[in-house]
Amino acid sequence: MRELNELSEWRAVGDESRAAGRVVGLVPTMGALHDGHRALIRAAKDHGDLVVATIFVNPRQFNDADDLARYPRTLAADREVAASAGVDVLVVPTLEAMWPDFPGATRTSVHVAELGDVLEGEGRPGHFAGVASVVAKLFSLTGACRAYFGEKDFQQLAVVRQMVRDLSMPVEVVNCPIVRDADGLALSSRNVRLSPSGRARALALSRAIAAVANGPATASSLRALLRATLDEAALAVEYADVVDSHHLRAMGDDASGPARAVVAAVVEGVRLIDNGPVELVKG
Ligand code: AMP
Repeated sequence: MRELNELSEWRAVGDESRAAGRVVGLVPTMGALHDGHRALIRAAKDHGDLVVATIFVNPRQFNDADDLARYPRTLAADREVAASAGVDVLVVPTLEAMWPDFPGATRTSVHVAELGDVLEGEGRPGHFAGVASVVAKLFSLTGACRAYFGEKDFQQLAVVRQMVRDLSMPVEVVNCPIVRDADGLALSSRNVRLSPSGRARALALSRAIAAVANGPATASSLRALLRATLDEAALAVEYADVVDSHHLRAMGDDASGPARAVVAAVVEGVRLIDNGPVELVKG
C-alpha cells in the first residue's frame, strides 16, 4: 500500500490510473477505521478498482468544537486496517493542504438546498455544506471515479448524489449497506466514546429501525413506533421520522410503497444515527 499526503501526487494517481484503463475507487473516510469502512474498501476491490482511501477529519463539517476535539484519531491502526482490507493508495492530506484558510473564512462552499437543511442539517447547522464542500474537493482531486459511501449516513448519500447530479461531476456513487455489530448497533467511529451502559441504551436506535422493518403500515403508525421504542430507553431523541429516500421529505398517510425510517439521538453526549427501509400503506 502506498501512502501519500501531497495533493499533486494524489491528482497524479488518478490521472495515471485512468490512463492505464483502470477505474479509481474512492473511499472517503475520517479514519478510526472499522468494519463499516472495510466493507466499502471490499466493495471497491470487488469492482476491480484501484482503491484510493482518504483519511481526513474535516473540521468544516463539525458544528461542535468538542465533538471535533474528541473525534478518535488512530492513524497507525488505520494504516494496518487499510492495508489488510486491500487499499492500494492511502491519502492522508494535511489541514493546510485541504483548507489553507481554515479557521478563517473559506470563500467557496457547496450548499445542497433542502436535502442538506433537514434532519441532520437542523440539528447540525452547516454540517452538510462542510460535507458537500470536502467531498467536492475529494472528487476534484481524484478525478473521474467510482465513489463508495455507506448507507449508515443515509442523508449524506442523498446529498452527495444530488451534488453529483446537479454539478455533472464525473463520479459514479455506489451505496454500501450498513454494517452492524452482532447486537445490532450500527458501527460508528464515535461508538468508542460510549460506556457499557450507554452502549446498551444506544441499542434502542437499531431496535427502533428493526421494529419498523416488519411489514407495511402507515407513515404515522411507523413514526409512533419509532418514537415509542426510543422513549422506552429514555434517549434524548433529535428526530424519528419516515421520509422518502431521495428528497428526505416527511411522508404522510397518503403515501404507499418503499420509504426510509431515520432516527438520531444523543447518548452520553454522543450523537448517534441509524436508518433502514420501510414499506408504507395508505391510511
Ligand atoms: P466516516 O469515517 O464516519 O466519515 O465514514 C466514512 C464512510 O464510511 C461513509 O461513507 C460512511 O457512511 C461509511 N460508514 C461508516 N460507518 C458505517 C457502517 N456502520 N456501515 C456502512 N458504512 C459505514
